[in-house]
Amino acid sequence: MSKSIPFSARSWVHGSELTEFPIQNLPFGIFSEGYLGHCRVGVAIGEWIIDLSRLHALNYLSMLPFENDDFRSKSLNKMMMRGKKACSALRLRIADLLDSSQDAIVKDEFTSCLVKMSEAKMHLPVDIGDYTDFYSSEDHARNVGMMFRDPAKALLPNWKHLPVGYHGRASSIVISGTPIIRPCGQVNASDETQPSFAPTKQLDFELEMAFITFDGKPMGERISTAEADDYIFGMVLFNDWSARDIQRWEYVPLGPFLAKNFASTVSPWVVTLDALEPFRTIGPPQDPEVLPYLQYTGIKNIDINLQVAIHPENGNEVVVSNSNYKHMYWNMNQQLAHHTIGGCNMRCGDMLASGTISGPTEGSFGSMLEIAWKGTKPVDMGNGTTRNFIHDGDVVILRGYAEQEGIKVGFGVCSGKVLPAKD
Ligand code: MN
Repeated sequence: MSKSIPFSARSWVHGSELTEFPIQNLPFGIFSEGYLGHCRVGVAIGEWIIDLSRLHALNYLSMLPFENDDFRSKSLNKMMMRGKKACSALRLRIADLLDSSQDAIVKDEFTSCLVKMSEAKMHLPVDIGDYTDFYSSEDHARNVGMMFRDPAKALLPNWKHLPVGYHGRASSIVISGTPIIRPCGQVNASDETQPSFAPTKQLDFELEMAFITFDGKPMGERISTAEADDYIFGMVLFNDWSARDIQRWEYVPLGPFLAKNFASTVSPWVVTLDALEPFRTIGPPQDPEVLPYLQYTGIKNIDINLQVAIHPENGNEVVVSNSNYKHMYWNMNQQLAHHTIGGCNMRCGDMLASGTISGPTEGSFGSMLEIAWKGTKPVDMGNGTTRNFIHDGDVVILRGYAEQEGIKVGFGVCSGKVLPAKD
């Protein structure tokens, strides 16, 4: 059974083919209605959300291995615990019900399960157990290496042999729209004097994507690159907010800590790996050859257009980066194989982020650190101000979509407004 919905398919939901949520996408999220509305599982179609608990109650999903409680939930985890086969079949069943060929009775009953997106509130889609951040874009790693180390040795010796990563903090991952308070911390610009405690002066975004896992194998077992797809539910846009001055002082020798753990923002809709399959593309060649456990077959990168914009408080939105997920040196299959090679167990709802996604050209860099090149190339905001880093009042907006044959499979926006530091 093919998991892809053909580009030629159309839904009876009016205008949905013109949005980033056409019948080919059908991403999952958690929504609520009204002030006291309960959270439940929804699927996006056009400008609407399908209430899956209502659809289930109408017996439209009865041949699938789900209980109504799986959809009356504050997270997608219960539904995801039914496994990849069940979730893939669920999405295809919904596509069938939404197809323009459906009869009037189905359309009529189905319509009673639709909630207007503009009248719903979106919530964090998964209960995230553990969060890992990789460092898998070669252009990003090289840019940072050139800025802070010998440009001739920009990449550290391990970089092309393993997907470098660290274990991050899941508790502070928030849904798009959540305000971000500028963090305070220890900074020491020169490394020579006493450090001081102050609000970060170098608040940055990191343009990333993250994938969410199904329940993995027991501890002690490995997930191979060939098996990895079976353990990946889907992807979200991910802004890994970073405080560069705090990071610079604290990161030696164990890596990022408080410079990264105050907040990360995710987009509301989890676009399934099934929906992204048609957009697979060949990744960059890997040289030197990687160890056998990191080798893979097939086409494992994905062509996803990514954009970052800054909307200042007094001014218009300015696009500061256009990048693409296809630039990743290490793909998700390799990241998951590497993560589990020592026996680390993945759990349902774990989130594994890509690391900053920079492309090869100046307009495609994924952080202000690179875009303004360590403060040497300030960005003109068109309102009489410039940016080396993010100011209070700025809204940082990530967008992403894959596109073929005029059909866009999108993620919705991932945005956050920066508020002043607390005393
Ligand atoms: Mn990061």
